Amino acid sequence: MSNYAEFYRRSIEERDVFWAEEARRIDWHRPPDVICDYSNPPFARWFPGGQTNLCHNAVDRHLAQRAGQNALIWVSTETDQERVYSFAELHAEVQRMAAVLQSLGVQKGDRVLIYMPMIPEAAFAMLACVRIGAIHSVVFGGFASGALASRIEDAEPRVIVSADAGSRGGKAIAYKPLLDEAIAQSTHKPESVLLVDRGLAPLPLVEGRDRLWAPLREQHLHAQVPCVWVDATHPSYTLYTSGTTGKPKGVQRDTGGYAFALAASMEYIYCGKPGETYFSTSDIGWVVGHSYIIYGPLIAGMATIMYEGLPIRPDGGIWWSLVEKYKVTVMFSAPTAIRVLKKQDPALLKKYDLSSLRALFLAGEPLDEPTAQWISEGLGKPIIDNYWQTETGWPILAICKGVDEAAPKFGSPGKPVYGYNVKLLDDQTGAELTGANQKGVVAIEGPLPPGCMQTVWRDDARFVNTYWKSVPGRMVYSTFDWGIRDEDGYYFILGRTDDVINVAGHRLGTREIEESIAGHPNVAEVAVVGVADALKGQVAMAFAVLKDASCLGDTQAELRLEGEIMKLVDRDLGAVARPARVRFVTVLPKTRSGKVLRRAIQAVCESRDTGDLTTMDDPAALQQIRDLVQTKNS
Ligand code: ATP
Ligand code: MG
Repeated sequence: MSNYAEFYRRSIEERDVFWAEEARRIDWHRPPDVICDYSNPPFARWFPGGQTNLCHNAVDRHLAQRAGQNALIWVSTETDQERVYSFAELHAEVQRMAAVLQSLGVQKGDRVLIYMPMIPEAAFAMLACVRIGAIHSVVFGGFASGALASRIEDAEPRVIVSADAGSRGGKAIAYKPLLDEAIAQSTHKPESVLLVDRGLAPLPLVEGRDRLWAPLREQHLHAQVPCVWVDATHPSYTLYTSGTTGKPKGVQRDTGGYAFALAASMEYIYCGKPGETYFSTSDIGWVVGHSYIIYGPLIAGMATIMYEGLPIRPDGGIWWSLVEKYKVTVMFSAPTAIRVLKKQDPALLKKYDLSSLRALFLAGEPLDEPTAQWISEGLGKPIIDNYWQTETGWPILAICKGVDEAAPKFGSPGKPVYGYNVKLLDDQTGAELTGANQKGVVAIEGPLPPGCMQTVWRDDARFVNTYWKSVPGRMVYSTFDWGIRDEDGYYFILGRTDDVINVAGHRLGTREIEESIAGHPNVAEVAVVGVADALKGQVAMAFAVLKDASCLGDTQAELRLEGEIMKLVDRDLGAVARPARVRFVTVLPKTRSGKVLRRAIQAVCESRDTGDLTTMDDPAALQQIRDLVQTKNS
């Protein structure tokens, strides 16, 4: 048995011993009584009775050894600013923020909603909350008032922390009007709103409610706010899923399990070492931002880069210049970002000294082979896919580098990560599929490992009903993703269960059709959805973005291209998978985190209501599809 197979086996079969050891990676104020209380499945309580604090483990714990070392490196190409905080400086700033929050009445268990651009004060606010036992709820700064209002309603924050404005592509985007509008829409009203004034947009204050950060910070310059020890099961935060498949779900995370699960992942998956620099290009509004901009790197004693700006401004080399400057060893991004870079000059990948960098990790959506190949050749570094969800907080499938000698396989995020009892289930019968190369729903047998979601915030029933199925004697969590496992134990994700279409009795994954179409040399990106069809039940419809769009509008050329693409699908998958139409657009509708909103495309194609679109990025993208569909019908 390989090292990893044995390591993995122990994590499942000797679960409590395994995690008791891993839990030593963090400081405990009081050791736990029990390792895992799974007496009320599917609710798992990890380390009940143990007391710890997330901020202590991310900041205070490092002061003895690395007070002067870099902790938070903030770079904004939006405002041309760069600030570096050592662990000691971060400690001071977090205490100031904690003191200010306390002065506004925030206590243990209260919620604080953080609606912020990527500025250091956002990190201070997150860390300050968990320092005093308050529960943060970060809402992505790119969301408008509707999305914000529903999250205010759900989290019922005592205080909201925000700023005058964010900035995108050098253009200020005022937050305050959106925030005021959202508070007006919500039946819950925060007692106070704490505002960082960046001098980017007007900041009218509501008397008695709104407070400015800078003068309050001055008042608490020397604040000393001790960490509040909380139970390991005390919620540290709530965070909403991306809303790709429906109304976002409020994921509730614990404290203790999360802290050491992240600490372990830094060693076994990302191989980041104390004193090094970690660079995740995500946003604090997403789970990757929580786990791998803020908590994971800091808990591991690493410096973390927080980047405000576009990946292509001032040019497509900006990220690599930061790798050189701060000697980044571990980098984390998303395929969607790499596809943006792919449209830039590839010479930019070679312009900087990247010798410090060991690997680039990508997650969040399927990593297609052309993108992986392009970036891997360009950087000359390992590109490592990993698969997980907002719900889990850290990877489900990965190559566990610290323990696994296996190499990544293109197209596969790897094998089940220790602690995750991953199964493939037949979607009809729920039976476990044990053979190689069988397609099923990726599921996790309970209990979920430490650090995963505890429940849906204030909605235990939704947690149970949405995610869990009972199979005799046990409960399994569904990821709602299709997968297969090859004979070597590597998993391949084949798309979401609701992205499956049924053409004349044949069940087809839209992902497979997309992969085939993406193989056409002129296709940059493509989305395939199933559309109701009187004859066949459903047919596939494809919407493609072209690399060279000069033929757009030339009907003959478009038809020729459509024919070529259909031939390609015929050859790869067979005529049954051939899309009924391939239409061309300049951009696909996506969530703000870069995921293609197939359900919205499908709704438009079927002339249905598009549902919750609060997380959509660019409404014009969906409009293009609407226009195409309407011209076809008229
Ligand atoms: P919602 O749950 O609200 O519909 P979402 O599922 O997009 O939104 P996230 O938690 O941000 O919300 O995304 C997790 C999903 O992203 C996974 O379930 C999977 O579909 C996809 N995903 C993440 N990483 C990968 C990966 N490496 N390969 C393929 N798919 C991935
Ligand atoms: Mg999801």
